[in-house]
Amino acid sequence: MNDKILDEEHKLFRKTVHDFLKKEAVPHGEKWEKAGLVDRDIWTKAGEMGFLCMDMPEEFGGMGIKDFRYNAILQEEMISLGVEGPGFTLQNDIMAPYFEKYFTQAQKEKWLPGIISGEIVTAIAMTEPDAGSDLAGMRTTAIRDGDHYILNGSKTYITNGILSDIVLVCAKTNPEETHKGISILVVERGMEGFERGKNLEKIGLKAQDTAELFFRDVKVPVENILGEEGRGFYYLMHNLPQERLSIAIGAVAAAKRAYEDTLTFIKERKAFGRPIGKFQNSRFRMAEILTEITIAETFVDECVMELNEGKLTNEKAAMSKYWTTELSDRVIDQCLQLHGGAGFMWDYPIAKAYAGNRIMRILGGTNEIMREIIGKSIGL
Ligand SMILES: Cc1cc2nc3c(=O)[nH]c(=O)nc-3n(C[C@H](O)[C@H](O)[C@H](O)COP(=O)(O)OP(=O)(O)OC[C@H]3O[C@@H](n4cnc5c(N)ncnc54)[C@H](O)[C@@H]3O)c2cc1C
Repeated sequence: MNDKILDEEHKLFRKTVHDFLKKEAVPHGEKWEKAGLVDRDIWTKAGEMGFLCMDMPEEFGGMGIKDFRYNAILQEEMISLGVEGPGFTLQNDIMAPYFEKYFTQAQKEKWLPGIISGEIVTAIAMTEPDAGSDLAGMRTTAIRDGDHYILNGSKTYITNGILSDIVLVCAKTNPEETHKGISILVVERGMEGFERGKNLEKIGLKAQDTAELFFRDVKVPVENILGEEGRGFYYLMHNLPQERLSIAIGAVAAAKRAYEDTLTFIKERKAFGRPIGKFQNSRFRMAEILTEITIAETFVDECVMELNEGKLTNEKAAMSKYWTTELSDRVIDQCLQLHGGAGFMWDYPIAKAYAGNRIMRILGGTNEIMREIIGKSIGL
């Protein structure tokens, strides 16, 4: 975000986040990458600092801050320092609205304190081996049997899949229906029949755990339903603009980081007797990149303020997600090119960015689906 839309408190918060990540996360990056997941205590350390679900009510340990700029700052700092592992953005930006809007008082009392302190890591499981973009085609079922739902099926590509303590699982409570048959259940670590597959090997974001989940006759108490039965699809759709804007914020931050790293690199690296940056081609590329990032940031900042005011539309969030993620991929690719062979080496942040950023065009609804949303909004 541009400083123009930030107050002094935001800037102070940025400094606190920056110092925390530099001390508690950056030194562990390589270890986490090799392990395929982060140390569990980074969650509780972040919780102690008040960085988790900052918008949740104070009675549960939150700060009651209704200002998405704080979420954005946390994500921007993580990206600018290359901290890929902890799934804080998932818990803060994507999961939090579900807790706040649809948890009952009893569910809030049971889970929110742990979610805010970092003792409970959360995940959301929508995608299945045979249903991603077409969520209404999901096959996981949760059939009511007295005081329980009996959950059967499997999910895949689930972020925080290994570390999560509670998972919001989307399942058909009425398999005859399409989207109207979908409900969301809170499945807890240790429930009989709930198993995790292996930590999936990805081309990027290697320090983040992504897993398959399996449910075999899991007895989920009816009090673990999120909101109302049959309303799950509506809840998912309702929360997606915030998720998509969060991805756009991450994409702009990733493009900025690539630009800054490359600027340093091309000033130092020499060829034909002068710094790479002094070639007209490099100058033009960097000028274009800076221009595009500035334009993207202006648009995304406007979306952040609209989200704060409750005015961000589905189609504008889709525009921000598709356009910025394509921009960041293009920028990172050009920046890698300016690094030459070094850009292909894993030790260089630009190589990690190249791999890690690629998922952004796929996550949170693919960019093709974003174009569908925008296209439909103009009546086509
Ligand atoms: C690292 C990672 C983390 C993830 N985290 C989570 C998570 O935490 N929770 C979760 O539930 N899911 C998660 N996902 C899954 C992700 O949301 C899906 O991969 C994504 O929604 C796409 O679904 P799919 O993979 O089934 O692709 P498909 O839906 O099979 O799409 C394949 C291709 O077909 C195109 N396509 C599909 N439908 C249309 C259409 N109508 N018009 C035009 N083109 C179309 C798509 O755009 C895409 O290019 C994660 C995935 C990854 C890789």
